[in-house]
Amino acid sequence: MIDLHLHTTASDGLLTPKDLVRYIHSLQISACAVTDHDTNEGVAEAIDEAKRIGMCCLSGIELSCLIGNESVHLLGYFLEEQPEPLNSIVKNEIQRWRAERNPKMVEKLQNLGFPIQMNDVLAEANGGQIGRPHLARVLVKIGVVKSVDEAFDLYLAEGRPAYVDKIRMELKDGVQLIHESGGAAILAHPFVYPFIKAYGLKRLVRTAKENGVDGIEAYYSEHTTSQRRRLERYAMEFGLIVTGGSDFHGPIDGQLQPGKGLGNLNVPDELLQPLMDRIEYWKTRQPATKVQANSKGNL
Ligand SMILES: [Zn+2]
Ligand SMILES: [Zn+2]
Repeated sequence: MIDLHLHTTASDGLLTPKDLVRYIHSLQISACAVTDHDTNEGVAEAIDEAKRIGMCCLSGIELSCLIGNESVHLLGYFLEEQPEPLNSIVKNEIQRWRAERNPKMVEKLQNLGFPIQMNDVLAEANGGQIGRPHLARVLVKIGVVKSVDEAFDLYLAEGRPAYVDKIRMELKDGVQLIHESGGAAILAHPFVYPFIKAYGLKRLVRTAKENGVDGIEAYYSEHTTSQRRRLERYAMEFGLIVTGGSDFHGPIDGQLQPGKGLGNLNVPDELLQPLMDRIEYWKTRQPATKVQANSKGNL
């Protein structure tokens, strides 16, 4: 059993990279990947710990991208802990976009009459990257809402009164950035996107393929078995690899578990090698593509 989609305190997860890897290891998971939102800050610590205890941990990231006006998540997997140019772009551009967004959302919440302060949000993030889940947790703490879900439903989700859009790159630019950095690009959890009903699953997979992705995350906690099988069929049809992971953010409510998801996720070990092959492919092509294109101009 493997798990290629995990979050740490470097983004909105609850466990430090080190604790996450220890926890994963205790669950007999043979290989993992740290895929924090728009940051690879936690990767080095996770890989160090994985090496120490003798398990495989891939370097990863989950980038927020756009298909038209719709938001999708793109997973990148690498051999290097701090692959370039991804590392610099994340630090210099993407983190700045995010940093500018948080005070705006806090201000909107204050204008709604809630006694939330940016300092409370910073404390909640505990030195990690700040995002909407931290704002949500503060709203729970100060008694505005009963749960993180309620905070999103009422105030923080797209279209709700405290939402501020973030600047995101086009899917093709995200894919290009990952490839130039010597990594494989995987479209995350296709069934999770609200626009999928109107857009169509097959069209989404085709669009992903046209934008250069290497594969799709078919095994996912919130995908049913039949949804996963449909994705596997389309992956085969479009020549894409299949990956999987739980999207574990920490031991919340004792529900979603690494490796097992909501119960029967069980991402098979056999999915790891095709992913490693794709990473190797892009790694060997890396110097040539780097000279041709500068992804910075495309963001
Ligand atoms: Zn995601
Ligand atoms: Zn995720």
